[in-house]
Formats: sequence, structure tokens, C-alpha cells
Amino acid sequence: MTWKKLINYFLLLISFQYSRWRKKPIMWGKPTTLSIEPTTSCNLRCPECPSGLRSFTRPTGMLQKDLLQDIIHQSKGTLTYLHLYFQGEPYLHPQFLELVQIADREKIFTSTSTNAHYLNEENVKKTLQSGLKQLIVSMDGLTQEVYQDYRIGGKLSKVISGLELLFKRRKEAGLLFPRVILQFLVTGKNEHQIPELKHWAAELGVDELQLKTTQIYDFENGSELIPKDLQYSRYIPDGQGKWKLKKEIENKCWRMWQGAVVTWDGRWVPCCFDKDGEHVMGKVQEKSITEIWKSPKYQAFRSQLLTDRKQIEICKNCTE
Ligand code: SF4
Repeated sequence: MTWKKLINYFLLLISFQYSRWRKKPIMWGKPTTLSIEPTTSCNLRCPECPSGLRSFTRPTGMLQKDLLQDIIHQSKGTLTYLHLYFQGEPYLHPQFLELVQIADREKIFTSTSTNAHYLNEENVKKTLQSGLKQLIVSMDGLTQEVYQDYRIGGKLSKVISGLELLFKRRKEAGLLFPRVILQFLVTGKNEHQIPELKHWAAELGVDELQLKTTQIYDFENGSELIPKDLQYSRYIPDGQGKWKLKKEIENKCWRMWQGAVVTWDGRWVPCCFDKDGEHVMGKVQEKSITEIWKSPKYQAFRSQLLTDRKQIEICKNCTE
């Protein structure tokens, strides 16, 4: 954190609160967080994910180093957090850990999400050397049968051995980073494993265990993925035989004032809910980040969020 980054963060906060109050967007800062997609490719076939379903209508491919360098160059003064992930499995990018290094050299906190199928000796070594600060590992089952029910094509033994190797090598090297967050998407099919999971994660030495609610595209008619324990669900029965979002949709979204997502080919989209790039605010190769961030199109999108968020399709299934 630097004074410049801190001041930028406060400018964003003030812009957000002032915009809410006047119901008209104003933007005085620059993005403090970004998610950038290394690749759309994935080795698994998860049923609620466009990478897994191979269902993108936008182009698929791999992020070029030059593009990342350009984004970092433009935003390094204000950017505090870079999540090198959007869709796809980042470790499938042949230069993934070099991408991490580019951001780490500029003292930006780096994070990524992985299904942990590629944590072999070489990748673990490079991960520890890259400066990566946070590694989010998606693992949603403690037995192969439960795990592969959602992570179709996945091998739980690979995830576990990769994690064990990472912890072992991290300890040997006397390093604290990357911190490992184990993310468990709770569904109706794995919720019974939660008590055992807590015990297992503590024994393994996981830095943080996150029990995450699962986004379901067609939730209105219910789904076997919705857990029985509704504390782990984004949805609740509406009393008329259908399901609805647990959280009331309010005309606001802090995310639209603090950060954005960039696809592998430079399309700037509002947030991670826009998986297929329906709301492209601009292309990084064509306009500067500031131009995109403060463009009339972006402001019109923010304006709709402040006045009638329900009209935006991607926001209807969002808990923000
Ligand atoms: S889906 Fe809509 S409300 Fe949710 S984070 Fe994205 S822009 Fe904000």
C-alpha cells in the first residue's frame, strides 16, 4: 500500500457513496482491484461453468504477456490487488507464473484460483518463486465420488497430493506465501462432508477454509445443487413453490466502483458475473484504462445499477 493507492481507494469510496446519494454516477478514482483472465481453457467439465461446458460465445484463448504488461503499466500507481483468474484453469497458461512475477515486481498483491491439478514439483517450485500471495484452491468433495460429481473429470488424489507438496515445500523454504485458501462450493451433494472437511483442512494446515455458496443459473425451479442447510445457499423458497435470491436486490454495487475484469483478449467487462462478455466496456488495446473506466457506456451501466438494477440480466443472480 502506498499513499497514492490509499488516496485512490478513498476517492472510490467517496465516489460510490456520493453516487448512491444523488442516484447518478460519479467517478473520481481508478480501479483498485482487477481480475485478469490468463486463459479460458480448462481440464475439467464443471456443470455450472462456461469453461467446463465449452459454451463461450466470446473468443477463447491465452493472455499475451505484452497485454498484461500494458495493463500493469497503466494501473500500477493505483492497483492494490490483482486476481489472475476469471474463467479457465490458470496453470494451463504456459507462462502463468511469469505473469504473476510481472505484477509482483510492481508490488501488487497477486492472487489466483485453481483446481490444483497441476501442482507438481516444478510448478510448486515456480509458484513459491513467483511472489504469488494467495492461492485459492477449489475442492468440493472429500471423496472421489462426491468430488467428481461437480468437478467432472477431476481427480481428488491429484488435488490432495499437490496441496501436500505445496505445504511441504513452502515450509522447507521458510515462506509464508502464497497463503492457501481452500474453497468448498457447498451443494446439496457435499454438505454432509462439512464437519469432516473442517477437521481435514485443519490437519493439512490450510490457511483458510471458505465454505462458499454455489451460483446456480436456473434456480427458480429449485435444483439438487441447492443445499438443505440454507445458510450455505444463495436461494430460498419464495413460498409459492419457486425459489428466489436470499438477498434482496438493492440498487447499488460497490464492485462497479472498485474494480473490473479483463478477458484474455483485452475485453473490459464489469465483473465476474459477465462470464461471456455481454457488457464489454471497451478493449484495452484500443483505449486507455482511464478512458474505458470513465466512458459514457460505463457510466450508463453504473447509472442503471443505481436506479433499476433488476433490468440488468447478470445482476439478477448476484449477491453483491
Ligand atoms: S452482477 Fe451486477 S450487481 Fe453483481 S457485481 Fe456484477 S455489476 Fe455488480
